[in-house]
This record gives sequence, structure tokens and C-alpha cells, in this order.
Amino acid sequence: MYREIPTRTIEARTRFWAKIDKRSPDDCWPWTGCRRDGYGLFLLGRTTYSAHRIAFLESTGIQPQHLCVCHTCDMPLCCNPKHLFLGTNADNMRDRNKKGRQAKGEKLHTARLTEENVIKISQAQKAYFHGQDVALAGEYGVASNAIRAIRTGEHWAHLESVKAVSSMRVSKPQLTEQQVVKIKNDLKTFRRGQGKILAEKYNTTLKAIYRIRQGVTWSHIHV
Ligand SMILES: [Zn+2]
Repeated sequence: MYREIPTRTIEARTRFWAKIDKRSPDDCWPWTGCRRDGYGLFLLGRTTYSAHRIAFLESTGIQPQHLCVCHTCDMPLCCNPKHLFLGTNADNMRDRNKKGRQAKGEKLHTARLTEENVIKISQAQKAYFHGQDVALAGEYGVASNAIRAIRTGEHWAHLESVKAVSSMRVSKPQLTEQQVVKIKNDLKTFRRGQGKILAEKYNTTLKAIYRIRQGVTWSHIHV
């Protein structure tokens, strides 16, 4: 069983990312801090947590909870969020079998989604923003309705981790002061339905927008 990773202060987050050797975007990013059984370890409070699990939470906002955070690169020390995905043991096994078969000659030019990609897409989609379907479609070389079908659970719902992720809560990243200034400027011309648009635009919750508007939060910022 895994422990829930607690909230990290800005200092802890800075300390965390400083221990990762961040190379180019597609390379493995090895953990340079202490380790156990081949995996990176990070101390938060009095407890240590797996570094790659924190990297996953930091980049997606998803608490991995009881699921394992797996590596597409088979490098336990790697903390590159692009190489991490949430999986159940069942998904893991299936994925491994598939990789074995691929080695025997899958046609490289067919733009089909692999189960591994579907899991990654469903996790990216959890913090859905406008236009993301098209962006991901471009990234994976498929039609945007294939991406939408994953988001809405029309396709691939048989994968345990796609199902698990769709029922998880996601904590949106904290707004920065700069974003709040922009939001306040946008709010000057408030109209019905704008809250939802702004929430999507700034990747935050509708509630956060209302609280800014009512001066419950960020009241010290004047624009
Ligand atoms: Zn890697």
C-alpha cells in the first residue's frame, strides 16, 4: 500500500526538482538524490516517498493513490513526467506482453494508439483544457475524435487505469499572482457564463474565479 503524498511547500518543491537531472524533453531524467531498491527517495516531513511518484503528482495533479506509477522507459530512477504513467498491475502485465509482441515486428507506420498511449492520454485529459483534444491528436498522430472518445470514456474503458483515473479527483495547480492580475482584468468586463471560460483559460476551478471576483481571495491585488 502506498501512502498519500502530502501537500508540498514551495521550498519542498524547489528542493525536489533540484535533485532531478533534467535533460532534454524526451530523455530520461535521473534522480540524483538518495535511493532504495533502485528507486529515488525524497524526504517530506519525516517520511520518504518515491521520487517518481512525486514527479507524477507534481506534473499531473493526480494522487497515484493505490496505483503504481510505471515507467515507459524501464528506468526506475527516471523522473521525466513524459515517461511516467499510472497503471494497475494488470495494465502493466498487458503492456509488457504487448511490448514483447511489438519486438517481433509491428508495422511502424500505422498510426494506432497503443494501450500505453491511451493511459497517458487519459491522464493528460484529466486536467482538460480547451483545444487539448486537437493538441494531443497532433502529438499522437490520430484524429481528434479518437482523443475525445478516450476523454468521454466511449473507448478504452476496459483499461483498468483509464477507469481508475476517470474517477479520481485532480487538484488544480495554484494560481500565480500574474495570473490573478490577468483574471482581474478579464473580470472587469464580466458577463454571464464568463466564469467557466476563465476557469478553463487559467486551468483553475469555477469556485476560484468566483472567490477572486467576490474579493474572498487575492483581495490585496489591485488592477
Ligand atoms: Zn525515462
